[in-house]
Amino acid sequence: TYTLGPKLSNWDEERKVWLSQNLEFPNFVNGKPRILLLTGSPPNPCDNPIGDHYLLKAIKNKIDYCRIHGIEIVYNMAHLDKELAGYWAKLPMIRRLMLSHPEVEWIWWMDSDAMFTDMVFEIPLSKYDKHNLVIHGYPDLLFEQKSWIALNTGSFLFRNCKWSLDLLDAWAPMGPKGPIREEAGKILTANLKGRPAFEADDQSALIYLLLSQKDQWMDKVYIENQYYLHGYWAGLVDRYEEMIEKHHPGLGDERWPFVTHFVGCKPCGSYGDYPVEQCLRSMERAFNFADNQVLKLYGFGHRGLLSPKIKRIRNETVTPLEYVDQFDIRHSVHGNS
Ligand code: UDP
Ligand code: MN
Repeated sequence: TYTLGPKLSNWDEERKVWLSQNLEFPNFVNGKPRILLLTGSPPNPCDNPIGDHYLLKAIKNKIDYCRIHGIEIVYNMAHLDKELAGYWAKLPMIRRLMLSHPEVEWIWWMDSDAMFTDMVFEIPLSKYDKHNLVIHGYPDLLFEQKSWIALNTGSFLFRNCKWSLDLLDAWAPMGPKGPIREEAGKILTANLKGRPAFEADDQSALIYLLLSQKDQWMDKVYIENQYYLHGYWAGLVDRYEEMIEKHHPGLGDERWPFVTHFVGCKPCGSYGDYPVEQCLRSMERAFNFADNQVLKLYGFGHRGLLSPKIKRIRNETVTPLEYVDQFDIRHSVHGNS
């Protein structure tokens, strides 16, 4: 059967030795685990050229968040494994990065169609000290309903360890393009509630794996729903004005969603579940909602959530450093921790 690569049974020990021999590449910096955010998109241009513009906005948004929070970022456009093209491409990428960056403690996968909409919120990593996979979802939807949307694989974190490599190995076999993926899709549709008939996708395959091998994996999986590690866009994008009026960034939950993920939108091409116009409009709103939080430090903001145009939000000053203390997100974040 298909494998991602040779079995690495001593990864934890080997990584530990490597870390002790490479003290200039520590896996914890100032007491915080080193995080690498991984995202990417297909190697070719979008069928619909406006899709490339939104891919650019989505990566700018991630660069902004990662700069503010000291997170490294990788954007991949290569298919490291031809068999795992499409949504399955994240699996070989995650494995490759774990093995090539032993100094990274957490690999955070984020889909290209997900944007940070809370630029202040930080993942409460200390909460996950005893876990190796952190993913947004609902335990009752998973174990009671066996729903195909119980978990979302648009934004999740893997600890760099042997357990994660083993999980990737167990997850991958339904992925190879062609008859294997097609046949596996039938099994997934037969077993997961609400799943339409189509080839095996990475999200359904993970849900199916965790359901069928619960005892083997679940004690190291943290199903998070206290904040939107993934937030479904449809219930969020129309409420941004209301959020601005009532709340403030830093909350990360329904009051000010950490991530807005455009599930079912395919502005780059192929067929989505929503009209492209509605998707693009909503992405524009999410981008500007987030960008306003970034531009605030510089004294600017968008004219409206649908406008690429900006306006000044305060006057020039002869004491600019006061604004740095007041508006630089990095200060408030570190002050809080
Ligand atoms: N992806 C990639 N390379 C590909 C296809 C997809 O890196 O060739 C990534 C991309 O970030 C995308 C994610 O995989 O957002 C999930 O793929 P899917 O087809 O489900 O796209 P989405 O529905 O998220 O747009
Ligand atoms: Mn997605």
